[in-house]
Amino acid sequence: MTSTTIINQDGVFLLRLKPLHKVEFQSGDLIEIIAPGSTRARPYSIAQYNGEILLSIKKYNLGVCSSYLHSLLVHDVIKASIKENLSFHLKKDISDALFIGNGTGIAPFLGMLSNKTKEQAMHLFWGGRTQQSIEIYNPFINKSLEHLNIATSQEGKREYVQDILLEHYLIVTTVLSNGGQILVCGSMEMQKEVFKVLETICLKELQQSLFVYEVQGQILMDCY
Ligand SMILES: Cc1cc2nc3c(=O)[nH]c(=O)nc-3n(C[C@H](O)[C@H](O)[C@H](O)COP(=O)(O)OP(=O)(O)OC[C@H]3O[C@@H](n4cnc5c(N)ncnc54)[C@H](O)[C@@H]3O)c2cc1C
Repeated sequence: MTSTTIINQDGVFLLRLKPLHKVEFQSGDLIEIIAPGSTRARPYSIAQYNGEILLSIKKYNLGVCSSYLHSLLVHDVIKASIKENLSFHLKKDISDALFIGNGTGIAPFLGMLSNKTKEQAMHLFWGGRTQQSIEIYNPFINKSLEHLNIATSQEGKREYVQDILLEHYLIVTTVLSNGGQILVCGSMEMQKEVFKVLETICLKELQQSLFVYEVQGQILMDCY
């Protein structure tokens, strides 16, 4: 382990890991970790950031693996395996990408944003509890992304990510019309609501079902 952050007000911390052996991985893949004394592997979504594995982890008080990861110290060595997650890889030559997530679901997007080229347009819609919730991720957010829209559920307008998505429906239609990809990562509840909004936008503005874009590989999801 190369570095960790202090836990924020939402119980979230970031962990950076450096593989000891050469291993291929990219943002969107999963790392599976078995905590000592446990038999069940827990998966975590990977951001590839400067060649390292960056994880965003929510610590649960009685959580076996999240507590173990939180207890790690710099230079500690852990056993883990990487699972390629082909269905959640951003296409390399993509012109437009829209990332939608909540909570720790932002992780893979931090890596994808770090590889953004000048020619690419990238948008991030993220839902957290408060404005302060995004701060832990700020050092990793590429300042050249086109839109960063944050929905806060516990302060201000008390919105969820699907609400701000509806307000900015033009970004959805532009990304899909340009052959771009929409990636959704975070909680299953969020995914359900986001998909309802995406379907509404597609039917109304593009006269197509969302399913058409899913089949074309333009809608990717990794929710848990
Ligand atoms: C594909 C995939 C990707 C994932 N990516 C991430 C990620 O990037 N970051 C991340 O933090 N987690 C991620 N998870 C969840 C992660 O794998 C673990 O389930 C989580 O860290 C809890 O494990 P634990 O061992 O700490 O808790 P456990 O020991 O499994 O659970 C102990 C107690 O914690 C509470 N708890 C555990 N999980 C939840 C939950 N999800 N919601 C509410 N209460 C819960 C429950 O009360 C439970 O009884 C992902 C899961 C999947 C399937």
